[in-house]
Amino acid sequence: MTEAANTKRVAVVTGASRGIGRAIATRLARDGRHVVLIARSEGPLNDVKAQIEINGGSASVVAADIADATAFAKVIDDIATAHGRLDILVNNAGITRDGLALRMSDDDWNVVIQTNLTSAFVAIRAAARSMMRGKFGRIVNIASTSGVVGNAGQANYAAAKAGLIGLSKSIAKELGGKNITCNVVAPGFIETDMTANLPAEIKEGITKLMAIKRLGNVDDIAATVAYVSSDEAGFLTGQTICVDGGLTMC
Ligand code: NAP
Repeated sequence: MTEAANTKRVAVVTGASRGIGRAIATRLARDGRHVVLIARSEGPLNDVKAQIEINGGSASVVAADIADATAFAKVIDDIATAHGRLDILVNNAGITRDGLALRMSDDDWNVVIQTNLTSAFVAIRAAARSMMRGKFGRIVNIASTSGVVGNAGQANYAAAKAGLIGLSKSIAKELGGKNITCNVVAPGFIETDMTANLPAEIKEGITKLMAIKRLGNVDDIAATVAYVSSDEAGFLTGQTICVDGGLTMC
C-alpha cells in the first residue's frame, strides 16, 4: 500500500480485467479513488493497473476466484485491513451459462448463482464492517436487465441478477443508517466479450426495440457507477438503475 492509497477512498472492483469492470475501475481511478482490481487472471489485471498508473491514478491487483466464497470473504477482509479502509465495493464480475431451464444442469445453475449472487453477499458482509468503522460506504451491484424482465435461456443468470436486486434493497435498509448506500446498476446490451458472439441479426433486432438506437458501451456503465459510488450520491439507495438505452424503462 502506498501512502497516497491510504488518503484516497479505496474502491474494490471485481471483474476488473476487461469489459465493464475494466471501464469502471479506470473511471474510478480517474476520479481519484485507489482501485483494487480483482479477477482470476493476474496478467490482464496488471495491464489495467499499468494503464491506470500511466494516467496518474493508483491501483493494486488481487487475483482471486470470487466463486470460492470462503476465500473471497478473506480477500475482502485482507484488502480492508491492508488499506485501513474500504469505501466503495463494486460487485461487477459475472458469468453466463445459458440454456433452456428444462435442460439446464445443476452445475450450470450453481456456478452462476455462486459467481453472480453469492459472491456479492459474501463481499458485502465482509466490506460492511470496514465501511461501518469508516462511517461511509457505497455498494454497487452490477445486475442486468435480464434480472428485471427475465430472459428465455437465462433462468440461472436472471435469477442471480434478480437476487442482486433483492439483496441490494435489503442491505440498503439494514445499512442506510450507517451512511452506507447499496444500489444496482443493470446494464442492457453492452459491447463486451460477453456479447461479442451474439449474431448480428439479434443485435439489430434488439437495437430496434431500444429508444436509443445503439448497443451500449462500457463507459455508459462506468459513468453511472461513478455517480452512484460518489460522495454526492448519499441520498440514493435501494435503487435499480437500468442503463439500457431505454430497452426496458424498468
Ligand atoms: P466480461 O467481459 O465477460 O468480463 C467478466 C469479468 O469478470 C472478467 O474480468 C473476468 O476475469 C471476471 N470474472 C469472471 N468470473 C470470475 C470469478 N469466478 N472470479 C473472479 N473474477 C471473475 O463481462 P462484462 O460483459 O464486462 O460484464 C460485467 C458485468 O456486467 C457482469 O456481471 C455481467 O453479468 C453484467 N452485464 C453485462 C452485460 C453486457 O452486455 N456485457 C449486460 C448486462 C449485464 P477472469 O476471467 O480473469 O476471472
